[in-house]
Amino acid sequence: TASIFAAVEMAPRDPILGLNEAFNADTRTTKVNLGVGVYFNDNGKIPLLGAVKAAEAARLETQPPRGYQPIDGLAAYNKAVQALLFGQDSPLIANAQAVTVQALGGTGALKIGADYLKQLTPASTVYISDPSWENHRALFEAAGFKVETYPYYDAATGGVAFGAMLAKLKTLPAGSVVVLHACCHNPTGADLTDAQWDEVVAACREKGLIPFLDMAYQGFAEGIEPDAAAVRKFAASGLQFFVSSSFSKSFSLYGERVGALTLVTDSKDEAARVLSQVKRVIRTNYSNPPTHGGAVVAAVLTSPELRQQWEEELAAMRTRIREMRKGLAERLAERGVKRDLSFVTNQRGMFSYTGLSAAQVETLRTEYGIYAVSTGRICVAALNSRNLDYVADALAKAMI
Ligand code: PLP
Repeated sequence: TASIFAAVEMAPRDPILGLNEAFNADTRTTKVNLGVGVYFNDNGKIPLLGAVKAAEAARLETQPPRGYQPIDGLAAYNKAVQALLFGQDSPLIANAQAVTVQALGGTGALKIGADYLKQLTPASTVYISDPSWENHRALFEAAGFKVETYPYYDAATGGVAFGAMLAKLKTLPAGSVVVLHACCHNPTGADLTDAQWDEVVAACREKGLIPFLDMAYQGFAEGIEPDAAAVRKFAASGLQFFVSSSFSKSFSLYGERVGALTLVTDSKDEAARVLSQVKRVIRTNYSNPPTHGGAVVAAVLTSPELRQQWEEELAAMRTRIREMRKGLAERLAERGVKRDLSFVTNQRGMFSYTGLSAAQVETLRTEYGIYAVSTGRICVAALNSRNLDYVADALAKAMI
């Protein structure tokens, strides 16, 4: 009898993971991988933060038993997440209006949020930025939603096409879900200003939209507090909204899968009911989250010394990315690129949209062993003092 899998077709390869495979197979010693979404230190390595190392050592010392976690995860972790998102003194926390559940990274938070939204508002359409993190569309479609886009990137300026974005938001039917990148937009690096966020909040209120903020890079643009500006504005608005957040980047804990889903409701009573439903989504999915990553992050965030150390380490990552942006823009100008390069330093977070075409990206790969995403996205956090000149040489030749 035929295999039940006989007719299964090969799914398309993930474009970014496919790029990694090609990079690993490349034998050139000068090769540079600017395709990945990971922060590397100046030695080209994924750092293990000192604060994480210390918290892990202390945790392993106690040889904790490995019981199940609650469905919604570690309470101390969820509490610490809320303080980072809203600020310690937020009325949302005092009023117990916000629900936070530990999730399997930012992706897991989006998935739990999407599945819960499908129960809450099954007929809604989800709107994502054009362009967006490539998993946003797939994830909300997999949850059963129709996914459309709102204008976002302005190729001419390397910034946000804010007029077009706002105009689109104002045409959306009530109950539409709008996925917003809270800071360090992936893939473009182009963020809204504080004043523009005010207008987005007003549009969400006016049109009755459901905001879903995705914050995967808190602390990578300006700092922990300023990077939460968009979340804080929604928090102050009195609206209900969703936030997915992740410590993959800010704690350099990619593989531990530490994230959270937070839902802001109208009251403590509403929050309790919403939590009970979200827990059902989790229970029927993976039952409860893993222990280690959340325990480490909670330990760092609740220890004054380790928290201080983490903030310094996070600041060092942020500063290094900024230096690489500045260094790249300067080197491109020195090499005769005439285009206004202020976008390179104005864009925030790990990524930059360079404006390179797919053909130019292909040339970078074949001629120089420099790997970037075909959309022209490069990971600035993969630049370092040793590969910067080499990358600038190649990029300048491609750009001129
Ligand atoms: N959301 C955005 C915008 C991202 O860029 C990423 C990571 O690349 C994620 C979510 C997922 O984060 P995590 O790796 O924690 O699942």
